[in-house]
Amino acid sequence: MAAVTDYHMHLERGPWTLEWLERFVDTARARGLREIGFSEHPHRFRECRAIYPAPLPWVDAQNTERLDSYLRLIEQARAAGLPVKLALEWDYLPGFEAALERALGAHPWDYTIGSVHWLPPAARGGEWWGFDDPARISDWERVDVLEVYRRYFRLIGQAARTGLFDIIGHADVIKVMGYRPKADIADLYEAAASEFAAAGVCVEINTAGWRKPVGEIYPAPPFLRACRLAGVPVLINSDAHVPEDVGRDFDRAAAVAREAGYRETAAFAQRVRTMAPL
Ligand SMILES: [Zn+2]
Ligand SMILES: [Zn+2]
Repeated sequence: MAAVTDYHMHLERGPWTLEWLERFVDTARARGLREIGFSEHPHRFRECRAIYPAPLPWVDAQNTERLDSYLRLIEQARAAGLPVKLALEWDYLPGFEAALERALGAHPWDYTIGSVHWLPPAARGGEWWGFDDPARISDWERVDVLEVYRRYFRLIGQAARTGLFDIIGHADVIKVMGYRPKADIADLYEAAASEFAAAGVCVEINTAGWRKPVGEIYPAPPFLRACRLAGVPVLINSDAHVPEDVGRDFDRAAAVAREAGYRETAAFAQRVRTMAPL
């Protein structure tokens, strides 16, 4: 059996309705999952605006919702007996830790996912780079790919060290567009894995990588092995943005986890972790 949970999914392509949410639950049930968790992007919510620099046009354009709509919907789903957990997929932007801590402390999340989607300006007067934005793929042609990877991997270590996150999201998403350094990056994997272990965070095995230009699961198998050697716990997540992707490719992901030596996955309730057989 693969995992029984899927803790990373987004409702953002639909309305704040129980009908839309139930479609995610229905797919989960059909795929044998017992519990799912929603992890919306905070950039949508006005209450979370302070965790990003200002101005940041990509965020500002989407920062129109109220967190209440989301919280109420999850509450409503629970009242209806649906097995759903409440979370956000927090963006970690260095320098915004205090705002992040405030936003994170405002509600009783079941777990917190910390992801890096933004790289800070490389030089004074530069701008933040949303490196996974398909509209900015041409930026990749102008950068030193290895240097970008180094900066990214430093940031995920830093994110873990804040102690604010239970789970590190798609730990090597820097590869999303398919740009990879020619050099071996085993040292980056090992350094990040030991930061994760020291911080006590979990790493998600995120199947969305198989659906992206890179066509590879996050983390890459050698990175996952480094996590295993360092003693970092894992769980399997889909990062579904549509109901059809809930629990997608979980058997295949479980095989990757076993191949790396994992025999257990993590589950969370009120930010307390428990382990179950994989
Ligand atoms: Zn993400
Ligand atoms: Zn996500």
